[in-house]
Amino acid sequence: MSKFVSLFNGMTGRITLRLLVIVAVSILITASLGYFKLSQVTEVNSFIRIDRAARAATALFTEKLNSEFSAINDPDGKPMALRLKSDTVDMSLSFRDVHDTLLKEIGHINQGAANLFRLNSETRAFDRFATTFRRPDGSMPPPMSIGSGHPAYADIINNQPHLGEVPVMGRLRLAYLTPIQTESGAVAGALAVDVGWVDDLVVARNELRTQIVVAAILILILVAAFGVLSMSRELKPLRQLAKYADDLAAEAPAVAVPFKSREDEIGALAQGLERVVTLQGKLAHLAYADELTGLGNRSRYLTDLKKSLLKNLSGKHKSTLLHLDLDNFKQINDAYGQETGDALLKTVATQIVDTAGETSQIARLASDQFTILVSDKSSAVQPVELAEKLLTALRQPFQLAAGEVRLTASIGIVLLQHDAEDADEAHRNAGLAMHKAKASGGDQFMFFSSEMNDVLQDQIRMDRMLQIAIEEREIEIHFQPQIIPSTGGLAGVEALARWTHPAEGPISPGKFIPIAEASGQIVGLGTLVLDLACEQAAKWRDQEFDFKHISVNVSTIQLWQPNFIDVLKAALERHNVPGRNIYIEITESVFVDHSESRIAMVLAAIRAIGVKLSLDDFGSGYSSLGYLNRLPFDQLKVDRSFISDIDTDQRKQQVLRGVLGLGRGLGFNVVVEGAETLEEVTLVEQLGCDSVQGFYYARPAPALLIPDMVRKIAQSKTRLNVRSA
Ligand code: C2E
Ligand code: MG
Ligand code: MG
Repeated sequence: MSKFVSLFNGMTGRITLRLLVIVAVSILITASLGYFKLSQVTEVNSFIRIDRAARAATALFTEKLNSEFSAINDPDGKPMALRLKSDTVDMSLSFRDVHDTLLKEIGHINQGAANLFRLNSETRAFDRFATTFRRPDGSMPPPMSIGSGHPAYADIINNQPHLGEVPVMGRLRLAYLTPIQTESGAVAGALAVDVGWVDDLVVARNELRTQIVVAAILILILVAAFGVLSMSRELKPLRQLAKYADDLAAEAPAVAVPFKSREDEIGALAQGLERVVTLQGKLAHLAYADELTGLGNRSRYLTDLKKSLLKNLSGKHKSTLLHLDLDNFKQINDAYGQETGDALLKTVATQIVDTAGETSQIARLASDQFTILVSDKSSAVQPVELAEKLLTALRQPFQLAAGEVRLTASIGIVLLQHDAEDADEAHRNAGLAMHKAKASGGDQFMFFSSEMNDVLQDQIRMDRMLQIAIEEREIEIHFQPQIIPSTGGLAGVEALARWTHPAEGPISPGKFIPIAEASGQIVGLGTLVLDLACEQAAKWRDQEFDFKHISVNVSTIQLWQPNFIDVLKAALERHNVPGRNIYIEITESVFVDHSESRIAMVLAAIRAIGVKLSLDDFGSGYSSLGYLNRLPFDQLKVDRSFISDIDTDQRKQQVLRGVLGLGRGLGFNVVVEGAETLEEVTLVEQLGCDSVQGFYYARPAPALLIPDMVRKIAQSKTRLNVRSA
């Protein structure tokens, strides 16, 4: 039923409706023309017949009763009256057989009725005395008169003929009444002839009208039915094409476009749709493919992931998401160049496809990040088995034009049914697990666990708190003196960020600095620390406390900000501090992501404003001795790991000796970090370092305490020296 109704809502309905309106109007015009013409012709015919009937009747009267009647006609021969030739009213106008015969003859000729009336001198009505009417049983009808209420009365009493419809037995007949006059011309009676019942004409006309209406309705129904059926049949391909386009929009048409071979408008439409399908294919490839490897790209991955999640939620599939990231790709890219890196990524992509199988949905998200979606329907391989196979495959050395390269990868695994409600969450959790695998040394896989999420949530919370802390300047700095061990004198101080949260208490830099680096807030934090350090430098200068310099830690992320030099200059200028009072401490991570020439440019710009450069945590990470030689550092800070327990570990002593020798040999000012005991301090002093920064001398403390602290260190050293002397 609804299908039928929908037919009328569409083109079928509209075209059929228009067809119906056109047919209806044509029928109406034709029928009304016929109808009016018919009425007109019927009317004209009736008047010709009645006129002839009247003439025939008077002619018969004057012929058959020649001795009694003469006719008075107008110039056209139309009867105006019958006049008695002598005074024979009583005889001529009373029933006689001759009248009866004559009337019958007239009636026969006219196919109507004929009547004779005589004026009743008393009632002044015309009483009928002869008629062709008979009752159904053949007997005479009841008497009848034309009185003053009769439509013909006024004419015939005035001696005028009357033509018109007159009532007879409750119905109407078209009649002509000719007055009969006495010899002297006074009215004495009337001869009435008619041509039948007027109603019969009306009935015939009405019948015709009804027939026309019925025929019109029938034609309309036929046209409507035919219109609906034929239009609906003709438009069926159009509906199928619309459905196809719908499926196309939903990315689903598995079959070819129908009706392409037709040579009409439908064919043209289908061919147009075919072109859209082709174009959509090209666009989908462009939008969803990773140009380098031919795998899916991020959009493809997200679309597949969403679809997969829907199937998982409906219980149809159990899918697993693997997030694979190469462990040491950055170095390879830096070492061998982009082109080799790209070639390697292509080979890795092929390895993944070969291992995971064609049925897995594989994409490359960015540089060396790959995702693999496996459904239990599409592959028999279990996630663990697959992850192990992938790791093994990637461990095989890759042969490149430049030589043999070894790779490892870290994989995070998420079971979509358990560990994700939406694509965002699935992606985030897989990333978390991958990072955990990487942080645990790489070359391994790890399943996502809710604890990982707790850590992330904690980081997110901390990140929000930190944002407020930076805005509200809740961050302050403490200072840790660097002491020249031989004299106990001050070499400089290092500024270390301190954060005491109003509710959570003190939070260590070891916790908040990595979070700030991960979210980018380190830039704001670093700017604040730099400003606080310059502010303190200015205060100490005013107090004439000779702090030598303040070392400020600057994260690599901040260092690479295009406006870093401006920020540094602004801080110095704002507090009117000369560049030489500030050291910038950078860790070795600065060498990881950038070319030597870029690093050299930034370092040179810093030195150009008089600020000195210190390489922090030296020896703890990735460093190339080549850089040391070429880059303009002033100071080397040897990492704490070289110093702890140095007095008891002979090998460590040898290493530190080498490191210090190298630093001094290259002309650096060498600071040793983290000396906690007198033994450690004594040893590093003997090995020839310039200054020591460690708990043995002083822990980081608020600025207010530093001058006193420094004085006490110097005094106790002097005492010690005096004593030993
Ligand atoms: P760092 O720059 O190497 O700073 C020296 C760290 O070693 C400080 O830790 C200091 O308290 C600690 N230390 C000094 N002497 C000893 C010792 O004898 N024994 C031991 N066990 N530790 C000692 P802190 O203040 O917790 O800072 C940790 C790290 O956080 C810093 O290492 C630095 O990398 C980073 N950091 C601190 N403040 C900032 C800052 O304002 N900006 C940036 N970017 N990083 C900062
Ligand atoms: Mg430092
Ligand atoms: Mg350090």
